[in-house]
Order: sequence, then C-alpha cells, then structure tokens
Amino acid sequence: MSAKIISGKEIARAIRDELNEQVAGLAKEGLVPGLATVLVGEDPASRLYVGMKNKAAAEAGIHSRQITLLDSTSEAELLALVDELNADPQIHGILVQLPLPKGIDEAKVLLAIDPEKDVDGFHPINVGRLATGDPDVLAPCTPRGVIEMLLRSGADPSGKHVVVVGRSNIVGKPMAFLLLRRAPGGNATVTVAHSRTADLGATTRLADILVVAVGWAGLVTGEMIKPGAVVIDVGTNRVDDPTRERGYKVVGDVEFDSAKEVASAITPVPGGVGPMTIAMLLANTVEAAVRQRAKDADA
Ligand code: NDP
Repeated sequence: MSAKIISGKEIARAIRDELNEQVAGLAKEGLVPGLATVLVGEDPASRLYVGMKNKAAAEAGIHSRQITLLDSTSEAELLALVDELNADPQIHGILVQLPLPKGIDEAKVLLAIDPEKDVDGFHPINVGRLATGDPDVLAPCTPRGVIEMLLRSGADPSGKHVVVVGRSNIVGKPMAFLLLRRAPGGNATVTVAHSRTADLGATTRLADILVVAVGWAGLVTGEMIKPGAVVIDVGTNRVDDPTRERGYKVVGDVEFDSAKEVASAITPVPGGVGPMTIAMLLANTVEAAVRQRAKDADA
C-alpha cells in the first residue's frame, strides 16, 4: 500500500485563495486587516520565517508591518512597542517572533499582547479559552493548520483515536485541546505522548490519526504506525545532505519511506504542515480584524 499524500501546499493555497476573496470583500467595506510582526535580533531562521509571513500577508491584501529590532533591545523597549501596537487601530494582529534574545522574559512579552490581537494564540487568556473548549478563540497556527488539513482531506478526527507525540505549548498541547473540543475538527479521543512515554511504538500504534511534533528526524518509523492510519508530520529537521548545494535537506519526524507503506494518508516534509501554519496566521489575522470591528461597533 502506498499512502495518499496530503499536500499542505495545495490545501494552504486553497485557504489563501478563500482569504484573498474575504479580504477583498472587507476592503470594500473599508476594513483592511493589519498584521505587525516583531523580530528581535539576527537569528537567520527567525528572519526567514518573519519574512515569509509578511510576504504572505501582503499577497493576501493584509496590511503588513515588519518591525525589526536590534539584539540589544531591552525588555522595557519591547514592551513599550507592544503597547503601541495594542493601541494602533490599523493593527489587528501582533506576532512577536520567538525565541527572544536572552535577557527578555518571553512570558512577560506574550502577556503584554492584547489577547484580541494575539494571532499566535499564545497569550495565557487564549490558552485558557482553548483549554476550556471555547470555539471562537484565536488558536495557535500550527495545530489549527493540522485540524484544517484533516478536515479538508476527509479525515475528520471526530470519534477517532488521535495520538499526539509532543507536549510543547506551541504544538502538542494546543493540538490536544483542539482535538478535544466539542467543535468541528474536535471530538476525538486523545492520547498525548512525550519523552517519558514508556513504549512510544505501542502508543503510536493505537492511533487512527497520528500527529508527530518532536523535532527528531525519523523518530517514528513504519512499524510504529497502525495500518491505514493517517499520519501528520509536524517535524522540521535539517539533516546533512552533501548531494545538495546548500549541504542539507529538511525532513520530518516520521520516516517517510517506511511510513507511507503502512499509512492510508501522510503529509510530506516539506510541503505539509509548514505552509498551513502561514495560511492559519493569515486566517487568524482576518478573524481578529472582523471581531475587533464588531466589538468597536458595539462600543
Ligand atoms: P519542543 O522541543 O518544544 O517539544 C518537543 C516535544 O517532543 C516535547 O514535548 C518532548 O517531550 C517530545 N519528545 C522529545 N523526544 C521525544 C521522544 N524520544 N519520544 C517522544 N517524545 C519526545 O518542539 P516543538 O513542539 O516546538 O516543535 C516540534 C517540531 O515541530 C520541531 O521539529 C519543530 O521544528 C516543528 N515545528 C514545525 C512547525 C511548522 O510550521 N511546520 C511549527 C512549529 C514547530 P518532553 O516534553 O518530555 O521534553
């Protein structure tokens, strides 16, 4: 058996086309969603991600503002910038790219972002709303993207046993909360595995849908997958590849070649979850703009 490939690239394109139309409609009503991205320091990966996010926002007709600060920026300066953006009516979404340089307390910065503008979904208020099953919360982009991929590829998690490998605040935990919600894309039976899980293979083999977010190239092999399961690989790992000019390639946490012989459907890396994360950031920004307009109209 060779698994069907769930192309995040194609699904993300479809979502972005829908968003383009929605944004064009909103512009006619005088609402231009605005996204501010804040990058502190010179980390090349962060710079690349922020650049991609801004480009995607601009392509969607979203007003995008990229603010790049020096590595030496103090916590107080960053907090003052967040306050400014919170008060700016042109900005509906604020994303502070993580990790932040040493000396800046990430938790403090995330807490300073207006929860209504928290398009990353990392503010404790939004984390709490997600954990209590609120269907209208701004949810973190990567797990939200995974849910969209499942729904749009005909793998509704409702009633299924989903095993999530990884319990980070960015992917694993919000993934589990989304899957548990009484809402479209939810209603799954969820198991969360992590580095202390005694027998990872025995746990992953229980999954009708397996979501892997660890950061360990090829951790999950075909023999750890139940025949016919749907496999979503969130992992993004650089491994040496002397045959390529740049000297490396990007692979997932799932050993693709053995997994595709067992699974019924699988996401590739690259071209799987990655493009969905960006599409969901745009979706969250548009949602945030529409909600803020409704709130302003009520005020
Ligand atoms: P973290 O490092 O924050 O979390 C990794 C998780 O994996 C932890 O919960 C850890 O367990 C668990 N883990 C580590 N080793 C094992 C093991 N041997 N068996 C089972 N579980 C293990 O990573 P993130 O969640 O931030 O990211 C995970 C991966 O997803 C990375 O490759 C990252 O690059 C990628 N990613 C991709 C995105 C995309 O858009 N495609 C977006 C975000 C992340 P414990 O808690 O016990 O330490």
